[in-house]
Amino acid sequence: MTGPKTIVIGGGLIGLSIARALTERGASDVLVLERHSLASGGTGKSSGIVRAHYGVPSIAAMAWRSQPYFEQLGDAVGFRQVGYTVIVGEENVEPLTANTAMHQGLGIDVDLIDTTRLAELWPMMNVDDVALASYEPRGGFADATQLALHFGQVARDNGAKVRQHTAITRILTNGDNVTGVELEGGEVLEADQVIVAAGWWSAKLLADLGIDFPVEAYRSELMIVDAGEPLPNLPVVSDLVSLQYCRLEGPGQFLVGNSDHADFAKKFVDPDNYSNIAAEASIEKYAEKLMHRFPGFPDPSVTHTYAGVYDVPPDWNPVIAPVGGVDGLILCAGFAGHGFKISPAVGDLVADLLLEGHSTDPDIPASDFRLERFAEGKPLNSLHPYVGAGEMR
Ligand SMILES: Cc1cc2nc3c(=O)[nH]c(=O)nc-3n(C[C@H](O)[C@H](O)[C@H](O)COP(=O)(O)OP(=O)(O)OC[C@H]3O[C@@H](n4cnc5c(N)ncnc54)[C@H](O)[C@@H]3O)c2cc1C
Repeated sequence: MTGPKTIVIGGGLIGLSIARALTERGASDVLVLERHSLASGGTGKSSGIVRAHYGVPSIAAMAWRSQPYFEQLGDAVGFRQVGYTVIVGEENVEPLTANTAMHQGLGIDVDLIDTTRLAELWPMMNVDDVALASYEPRGGFADATQLALHFGQVARDNGAKVRQHTAITRILTNGDNVTGVELEGGEVLEADQVIVAAGWWSAKLLADLGIDFPVEAYRSELMIVDAGEPLPNLPVVSDLVSLQYCRLEGPGQFLVGNSDHADFAKKFVDPDNYSNIAAEASIEKYAEKLMHRFPGFPDPSVTHTYAGVYDVPPDWNPVIAPVGGVDGLILCAGFAGHGFKISPAVGDLVADLLLEGHSTDPDIPASDFRLERFAEGKPLNSLHPYVGAGEMR
């Protein structure tokens, strides 16, 4: 007997992880459709940071459930287990302490550390304005494209089909049931289930069905810095004092991302047409913040910059749920800057929803990720938000 026909729209990390999870659990008829090449959307720009530090317990739990994937896949996905630190000033000691306690309650391997220990882990760091840090020894970073392609390979090995350069123009329904999709050029593909994992572009496909998915396309700039000499294995840093994040990028190079989202609305862009280099004024600002934090870099210089686009819902958290009262239609998008590290668990949750009808993990209640939460005014917010860095969550 064959199971339901499932179409996944979008060949990024999320769509491919869903195809992997479904086929690993026996789904036999899964087709992923990607309008360009696999991993060519937000996935291809990801900084690939692996950590479980979130203020929303279900997201922290998803990150922690995903951790073994990185550890088992290791080199195959470029995983570097260099550790991960969050550093805060006095104003954020309380939320950091509360979040860390919440994480420990979820079984996450994390501890608070003082600045003496931080300076040992990070010899080139200026810790003068740091009051406290948390440290996840099992965190680090990996390569998002490699992980997406790995998911795609596993899905194909398990019988899924992947069709690239195939754009969907419309999701088709009949009454309250999804029936398939229409492709550019008019071809119709039938399906019993359609999973929309098309990042920001999901909103347009749903709008045509009268379903409102509130999501903004938010441009985020990255800078690659040459430190001047080979660097040792330094932990990833989420710097909530200077509002930046940094990680190694090969020997002697450093990737720096901006986490100052104060002028959020000024950075909305067309995700199909945006500037792919950082503005001069931004580079100066990032360089100043970087030199303040890491005065020990021997001879730093900026090698190049680029930019990516986050798909950001009002509470910076994803929708992973049936939508619009249409049987067989699932939305899985809105991962903002966080979808990489939780992508393994997201695939598993969608497989749960489709195969069991509910989440099988008590720490990951499916109700957290309903679309209706926006209209109901019940956003999924951090339990212990950071002053000046709310989106860190
Ligand atoms: C600059 C940057 C840094 C980031 N850093 C991190 C990080 O350090 N850690 C972390 O956890 N996360 C990070 N993220 C977030 C993470 O990379 C994303 O959440 C994740 O890659 C999103 O995957 P996705 O599959 O939902 O979306 P995408 O990768 O955007 O995939 C959606 C796909 O759908 C396709 N598509 C769209 N419309 C159609 C259509 N009509 N028909 C067919 N296909 C369609 C697109 O072409 C695209 O390939 C970062 C993101 C960015 C942009």
